Amino acid sequence: MSGSGLAVSVTAASSYVRGVVARNRGSMAVRMSDAYDVVVIGSGTGGYSCALRAAQLGKRVAIVERDERLGGTCLLRGCIPTKALLQSAAVMDTVNRSEEWGIKASGEPDWTQVQAFETKIVDKLVSGLTGLVKARRIDVIRGSAALLRDGKVDVEGRGLDAQDVVIATGSKPRLLPGLEISSRVITSDEALWYPEIPTSAVIIGAGAIGLEMASAFSDLGAEVTVIGQEPEILPALDADVAAYVRAGLEARGVRFERGASVTAVEVAPHRARLVEQAVAGMPVEVVCADGREVGSHESLPEGGFDRVLVDAPCTGLGSLRRRPESRWRRQPSDLPPLTRLQRELLAAAIRAVRPGGVVGYVTCSPHPVETRVTVSETIRRMRSTVELLDARAVLPADLPDLGDGPTVQLWPHRHGTDAMFLALLRVESEI
Ligand SMILES: Cc1cc2nc3c(=O)[nH]c(=O)nc-3n(C[C@H](O)[C@H](O)[C@H](O)COP(=O)(O)OP(=O)(O)OC[C@H]3O[C@@H](n4cnc5c(N)ncnc54)[C@H](O)[C@@H]3O)c2cc1C
Repeated sequence: MSGSGLAVSVTAASSYVRGVVARNRGSMAVRMSDAYDVVVIGSGTGGYSCALRAAQLGKRVAIVERDERLGGTCLLRGCIPTKALLQSAAVMDTVNRSEEWGIKASGEPDWTQVQAFETKIVDKLVSGLTGLVKARRIDVIRGSAALLRDGKVDVEGRGLDAQDVVIATGSKPRLLPGLEISSRVITSDEALWYPEIPTSAVIIGAGAIGLEMASAFSDLGAEVTVIGQEPEILPALDADVAAYVRAGLEARGVRFERGASVTAVEVAPHRARLVEQAVAGMPVEVVCADGREVGSHESLPEGGFDRVLVDAPCTGLGSLRRRPESRWRRQPSDLPPLTRLQRELLAAAIRAVRPGGVVGYVTCSPHPVETRVTVSETIRRMRSTVELLDARAVLPADLPDLGDGPTVQLWPHRHGTDAMFLALLRVESEI
């Protein structure tokens, strides 16, 4: 089996427009228009069932569809092809576990034939639907429809006049901000017809569609990790059901990363607004607060986070000593309160992580000894057991001059002054 790493985004679209009916009250017929009782825009499950029923009731009906084929998401790239894929995957799973039933069997997926099976099922149902629509004498108008102000429908220059217009335009997959579809970043649409079975896949979204993809790819041999935003998968279902489904998938090798969201804390309101703009659309809560308010601010509970990154204000010692012209115009008298602030922020971060959680402490520190003292003194005063981890282990192997660890100073050569310092601390438990 050949393949490549893959990220599948299955975030559901938000643009459902279901059962919207616009009544045309205009009396003047549009020149060149076709007159119908009902024009249905979209031939998905919602559109075709409405059109078929209206025709059954004796109405003159047209369906406008911009896709080449009738059927919409469910038939062409949703319920039907996924169930075909899952059927092939279930056979593979049965073969893989055949010894549980006392049968010796082996096999491997033939992806071309798996997709041929998907295509066969889809073609059959599309053909059935197309025949039904024809039998009910529903006109199918190909093209992209636009609803005009007067309630009439324009299909790429052709005017349709209707007593009632049904908008059943459905939805489409939505990508996460900053992602674009490529050979490795795809949505559920592309996953169904991907050229090969991936060797590994990260699936973003732990709802029904994400889990169907996870189940199918995993049974067909891919290493699958599902990332969900909520603490449990399938948030729309009862927790008991979700836990049962998760246990079943985990037993078949699917990994889950759950409940990942980010809280960004910024004390200055104007900078908090800038952060909000930068992370718009992402699962990030921006809190305008002092990072030392852990335990007293409702968004900053003690032990409430897996990981905390402290980007501490720099003391500017380097600037004082080497570059008095720089933008950090510090006086020697500024240092004690800044050093105190650094320690208090680090102490607050240690209180914010759960036992086993990790704190990253970064600040510019041309003279690492100063920051090392800040870190070691803060650890010494904490009630929790805190272990200093080797920060070099998480950095790219080709970064030069990382020193003896466990803390790291990055790029001291760049400007000679504002080298970044990184310490990683694991909070073990309360003493
Ligand atoms: C991978 C996947 C698996 C799924 N599995 C299931 C399942 O197992 N069970 C289940 O109940 N649901 C499932 N769903 C959801 C189901 O497919 C949708 O709920 C259903 O298709 C919605 O039907 P609809 O008619 O509202 O819209 P759609 O099926 O999206 O149809 C809308 C149609 O409108 C057309 N259109 C849009 N704009 C215009 C325009 N301006 N002019 C002309 N035509 C236009 C589109 O081309 C499309 O054909 C699944 C979805 C996906 C993506």
